[in-house]
Amino acid sequence: MWAVVIEAPGRAVVKDVPEPEPGPDEVVVEVAMAGLCGTDLHLFEGGLPYPYPVIPGHEVVGTVVEVGSDVSGIEVGDRVALDPNIPCGECYFCRRMRFNHCLNWQGVGITRPGGFAWRVAVPSRVIYPIGDMPFEKAVFAEPLACVLYGVERAQPRIGDRVLLFGAGPIGLLLLQALKRAGAASVVVADVRRERLESAERLGADRTVPAGQEETLREGFGYDLVVEATGVPEVAGRCPDFAMPGGKVLFFGVCPEGATVPVRPFQIYRRDITILGSFALNWSLGQALEMLSVGAVQVEPLISHRFPLERFLEALALVREDREPRLKVLIQP
Ligand SMILES: [Zn+2]
Ligand SMILES: [Zn+2]
Repeated sequence: MWAVVIEAPGRAVVKDVPEPEPGPDEVVVEVAMAGLCGTDLHLFEGGLPYPYPVIPGHEVVGTVVEVGSDVSGIEVGDRVALDPNIPCGECYFCRRMRFNHCLNWQGVGITRPGGFAWRVAVPSRVIYPIGDMPFEKAVFAEPLACVLYGVERAQPRIGDRVLLFGAGPIGLLLLQALKRAGAASVVVADVRRERLESAERLGADRTVPAGQEETLREGFGYDLVVEATGVPEVAGRCPDFAMPGGKVLFFGVCPEGATVPVRPFQIYRRDITILGSFALNWSLGQALEMLSVGAVQVEPLISHRFPLERFLEALALVREDREPRLKVLIQP
């Protein structure tokens, strides 16, 4: 079968590889499509501490074509989404329900072969049947699950004033989830005009382009400030916009070694809470629930589709970040 293989940092090829065989507790999914995201870029650039070669692709949907001998409840022909995170269930953190920090964590498309391929084998316990939900919707289950976990971490209160930095695919999911979670208003700031237009269409109460951030200081500030750009300079300014008693959620992925200045007096004097949110923690079912009823719109987030053999073009589009872009899907 054909698959994208990152052979080493900076070197990706599309090539013929052996088809996966299901282990006793695994199923093989014929991939319908898979979303390309920043994690794939980090993997390509060598920013993640996992061994190569690897077949990337962790936002995967498709149809079950083979079922291992010990699998029950999933059948050939089932249309499914999958949670790429495979926790061990036994380690220090798994026993504290912090499965996203599992010490023996395996990731589909990260530590084991992923979905930028014709087929992928995964343990049945991370498979979620999607019924007749269109694949274009279900392919957002994984990024939305990360977003819902972040919203759970931030625990917005009904009526909150929220400020969101970043209106990429993740920011636009956060916007919608935060409104569903009870935010009275969500103000969205981004450097790209077309992304702010998307935010307006998806329910932003106000949008603020680059250079006008000072207007965000009007009033007392925000109950919750969400950072979804991954730009350290932006992250460093988030506490300034939180009102006394407010929270800051760092959701965007900053470079690992990045530092930002923090004024401890400001955090102390104004009762600021700073939160992180890493990946997801069994929130994929909730994400599918939201998608199935249309609580979150995802069709407007799809900007490009590439066949598998043009993966390198898709990667270049995301890396160079030149033309207007939101979510890029790869279709075998
Ligand atoms: Zn992702
Ligand atoms: Zn574990």
